[in-house]
Amino acid sequence: MSTVKRILWLTVWATLALGVGTAAHAKLNIVTTTSELAAIARAVGGDLVEVKAIARGDQDPHFLEAKPSYMSAVNRADLLIYNGLELEIGWLPLLVQGGRNPQVLAGQQGNLDASADIPILEVPSGMVDRSMGDIHPLGNPHYTLDPRNGLIIAEAIAARLQGLSPENAALFSRNLKSFQQELQRHIGQWEARAKDLRGRRVVTYHKNLEYLASWLGLVVADYIEDKPGVPPSPRHIAELVDHMKRDGIGVLLYANFQDATAPERVAAQANARTLALPISVGGEPEIATYIDLFETILGRLEKGFGGR
Ligand SMILES: [Zn+2]
Repeated sequence: MSTVKRILWLTVWATLALGVGTAAHAKLNIVTTTSELAAIARAVGGDLVEVKAIARGDQDPHFLEAKPSYMSAVNRADLLIYNGLELEIGWLPLLVQGGRNPQVLAGQQGNLDASADIPILEVPSGMVDRSMGDIHPLGNPHYTLDPRNGLIIAEAIAARLQGLSPENAALFSRNLKSFQQELQRHIGQWEARAKDLRGRRVVTYHKNLEYLASWLGLVVADYIEDKPGVPPSPRHIAELVDHMKRDGIGVLLYANFQDATAPERVAAQANARTLALPISVGGEPEIATYIDLFETILGRLEKGFGGR
């Protein structure tokens, strides 16, 4: 073999060896249903993960179209992280079925229900009558809006990443610790900023602000939707306006992807103010992280309650 050929062969072998080495350290491919789960997964996984969220932060996660591109994403995932409590019941089963990826089926390492360790609010005590259209049959699924739950979610994601990639366990631990420390520090600051909000009464559109309210001590006195996911009757709207006038409830909160028509009409009749909140990462263009989300919400609440 000539020297030139020998060098060529060496190059081929070196390339192959390098290729195998790289594959062993390939990034874990994570798909999350919502963008706040994606933000937390990015914080914990760092450079070792590639994360894609299915729902955008300005979409209602209860109602999403099961597009083929989402199925392809599920097909390629090493880990599927979802909110659970039937938040995604209308579309996630279709994505998992269409994704044909045995790694992410329930019970596998690649399937993580982020609600597993969360203290759930509004768990129904009796039988749930689904014929009524209630879309919170297992309790309130909007738990990511209490940042203390973000600490728990991060813990669960770190544990799962360590299981999937034991060689990087120490790095995931470090990322988890620094995420939790930073979030904890912010939680303290947000609680101090929000102390004037404690005991303030509000009305919300959908039951998606219960965790935020219970964290900050806001009192949700009534709703535009008297049953989650079910359009309100004219009679309920009339009673709601009376309730707000009678009790002097001056602020009506709703998620920024919800239709503003009903909140604006009710607020006008009850002489109240409406406040549209982003409720997810990406819910407004500048909200890139889980911490950004609460910074924005806190700022919006401070402004909204000013003078009320
Ligand atoms: Zn809901």
